[in-house]
Amino acid sequence: MAEAPRSLLFVICGPSGVGKTTLLRELFARDPRLRFSVSMTTRTPRPGEVEGEDYHFVDEAAFDRAVAAGELLEHAVYNNHRYGTPRSEVERARRLGRDCVLEIDVQGAKQVRAAGVAACFIFIAPPDPAVLAERLRQRATETRQDFESRLATAQREMLERPWFEHCVVNDQLELAVHALQQIVRDERRGAK
Ligand code: 5GP
Repeated sequence: MAEAPRSLLFVICGPSGVGKTTLLRELFARDPRLRFSVSMTTRTPRPGEVEGEDYHFVDEAAFDRAVAAGELLEHAVYNNHRYGTPRSEVERARRLGRDCVLEIDVQGAKQVRAAGVAACFIFIAPPDPAVLAERLRQRATETRQDFESRLATAQREMLERPWFEHCVVNDQLELAVHALQQIVRDERRGAK
């Protein structure tokens, strides 16, 4: 019997406001073999966000329990909220024979790397820092303080770009999606 293809893990990072969500939505629409890993978070849902699709929204106590039980592959505090990747998300993708995509912050990506988990690390960068600041400013959901702390975090995250295997500049959506698709194709070819 032929062996099932290995399930790949893609770790996608990039500063807040870089357009990761739109980019990934396009990527998932074009590639049904990819599966989004739904993170756990203590932040409250934004309008339109759906429990179990965008995040598993939990309180501090539930997050603590997941950490204590070793249920999270990685976890981090971002902008005063906690976020983590349930191991079950990665395992489910594997069982389904799909490739798993983690959309997480840089601290989490470093933990995945330090754990020696085989993964492809991709950084999404803005065409220039001013574009990023403008996008963050335009986000209606952010308060002024939130904006400033997100901007500072985004600037810190940009410094991590060099260690990523791949960097995709999100200037034009279509080109950026193509670049991501190419990376996924190359990884699959290499995994055979
Ligand atoms: P947001 O609150 O805007 O949805 O996400 C804030 C940041 O948390 C983003 O950089 C996002 O990539 C990151 N994030 C989302 N899920 C996880 C996770 O499971 N682990 C870590 N470390 N970061 C996450």
